[in-house]
Amino acid sequence: MKILKVSVKHIKVPLKKPYSLSKVVGTIKNTEPIIVRIVTDKGIWGIGETDPLQLFTEETPETIKMILEKYICPAILGLNPLNIANIHKRMDQVVKGNYLAKAAIDIACYDIIGKYANLPIHSLLGGRLREEIPIMWSLGSDLPEKNAEEAIKVKEQGYRSIMIKVGALSISDDIERVKAIRNAVGRECSLIVDANQGWDTHSAIRFAKLVEEYSISLFEQPVPYWDIAGMVKIRQNISIPLSADESLFTINDAKALIEKKAVDVFSIKVCKHGGIYKAKEIMDLAKTFGISCMMNSMIEEGITQAASLHLGASSNNLWKFGHAYFSPLRLKEDITDYSMSIGKGSIKINDQSGLGIHIFDEKIEKYKVDEVTIS
Ligand SMILES: [Mg+2]
Repeated sequence: MKILKVSVKHIKVPLKKPYSLSKVVGTIKNTEPIIVRIVTDKGIWGIGETDPLQLFTEETPETIKMILEKYICPAILGLNPLNIANIHKRMDQVVKGNYLAKAAIDIACYDIIGKYANLPIHSLLGGRLREEIPIMWSLGSDLPEKNAEEAIKVKEQGYRSIMIKVGALSISDDIERVKAIRNAVGRECSLIVDANQGWDTHSAIRFAKLVEEYSISLFEQPVPYWDIAGMVKIRQNISIPLSADESLFTINDAKALIEKKAVDVFSIKVCKHGGIYKAKEIMDLAKTFGISCMMNSMIEEGITQAASLHLGASSNNLWKFGHAYFSPLRLKEDITDYSMSIGKGSIKINDQSGLGIHIFDEKIEKYKVDEVTIS
């Protein structure tokens, strides 16, 4: 089998309502994924997606499109997509880094392999260990009463894990929000706080000590991505488990976090690591060192989410609470039927071949900003 052509589409989809994260990342109103479709000489095609977010990822939709057009796609034309290791080797030979651009190609190749073998991607990764996975919901920065109201609503919908975005307001204001949410949902829900790099070490320790009484399951990325020493100091001084998100892109990042004993949990996002292949390498390494993995997400459409779901389905190292498989519900529209598998606080894993989702091409066209085909 050979890759004949790759189409690259930049789309822009509005969120149902603005999503307010820390003061570093700001408020998000749209997501701008890059969608790739790889066509082969055997008539089988695969679809991939990647989800840049400025100030979180170094890459932007424009840089990803350019890197795919000028470097990656010309280098993989004529290669066999069934040999994913070789596709990665070739991509790494032509351009360093650019993990999000490479992730879109990786996901599309896995989709092709699954369709060719008539197997779901989770079977290619070792097989699925569960039929469904509990989902978390995520609350952006808002007034305590508004956050509490939304928390009650999602609890009624079956969610038992809630991520609270902190780090945009003062510590005392964020504590008030956590308190209001805990009081609203009671003790059955696990609460995760994610500061998206919004604080320094001292503020993070102060926040963690004050928030302890509200029974927090996880504290994610309190300090800037480069501050591993800060993460170590925070972990030594608080009792809440700590996770790395923005600090964890590559396997070398994972190695440094492990060596320095900086975190308890890895926050996995298929596209930031360069795709399923490289995310799995990180997850396997994590397991060896007793670090569990939370399947997290950027603001994703159903393609990246499905890729992440196959990876989560086959992992024997998942964090015990909810995972971020709800992202398309934040969007005005999903370009796939992925969200149909979301039930009462969990997502069902199907056994259809490849990614196991249906793509609505007319929606991709509706939200398209720009496109290029490389053949
Ligand atoms: Mg995060």
